[in-house]
Amino acid sequence: MQDMEKFEDSYRARGLRRLLVKEITAKGITSKEVLNAIGKIPRHAFFDSVFLEHAYEDKAFPIGEGQTISQPFTVAFQTELLQLSPGQKILEIGTGSGYQAAVLSELGAEVFTVEYNKKIYQKTLMFLPKLGYNPFFFHGDGSLGLPQHAPYDGIIVTAGAPTVPNALITQLKIGGILVIPVGNEKHQKMLSLKKISENNVSKKEFSQFSFVPLLGKDGW
Ligand code: SAH
Repeated sequence: MQDMEKFEDSYRARGLRRLLVKEITAKGITSKEVLNAIGKIPRHAFFDSVFLEHAYEDKAFPIGEGQTISQPFTVAFQTELLQLSPGQKILEIGTGSGYQAAVLSELGAEVFTVEYNKKIYQKTLMFLPKLGYNPFFFHGDGSLGLPQHAPYDGIIVTAGAPTVPNALITQLKIGGILVIPVGNEKHQKMLSLKKISENNVSKKEFSQFSFVPLLGKDGW
């Protein structure tokens, strides 16, 4: 019964979602496709307890196991930086609640998503397909990428890294983009790195974000 209520997409939820789309538009998100995805996905279904108001605030929120569902603006911002087209192969590091993976799936990407925490991995693996999203789920250390399915058109890291892991650049196609927050354990700059050629990467930087730490061999 609880679950039925949770997945119900009420008139009120749709209204709150429209306001959220307005808010992140005002904050600078311009991609129609990204805004449509945020406007469509029932974010409240990703929360353990149903607080509609919290689900549609532009804020990160705890999802258990000390982890968070990213702020909608941040999800939209990172997704825009990927510049993805339908059919592209995208690797996400840090599955978490699965919300970002849902946004990428809505945009038509073929999504590979890696989660380090086994409980979170199992929970999201069971949950996300119920909403109709079916990325390929992996449990493991995403700081090493996911070599068995490389190369990727885009890689998005949704945890804060101390440096850019080499493996992620290696696993990008030429012309591919890596979006990754890099900094200390509290604050990170968002980097958008484009692999121009085998040995050449261009870089754009945006401040200031706050992610949970990327763990693992090339993390903290
Ligand atoms: N994309 C998520 C937000 C993730 S929060 C969402 O949309 O909800 C960051 C996640 O990264 C956490 O679940 C954390 O367990 C995971 N993580 C941390 N280090 C990791 C690593 N080395 N490989 C894969 N996942 C990692």
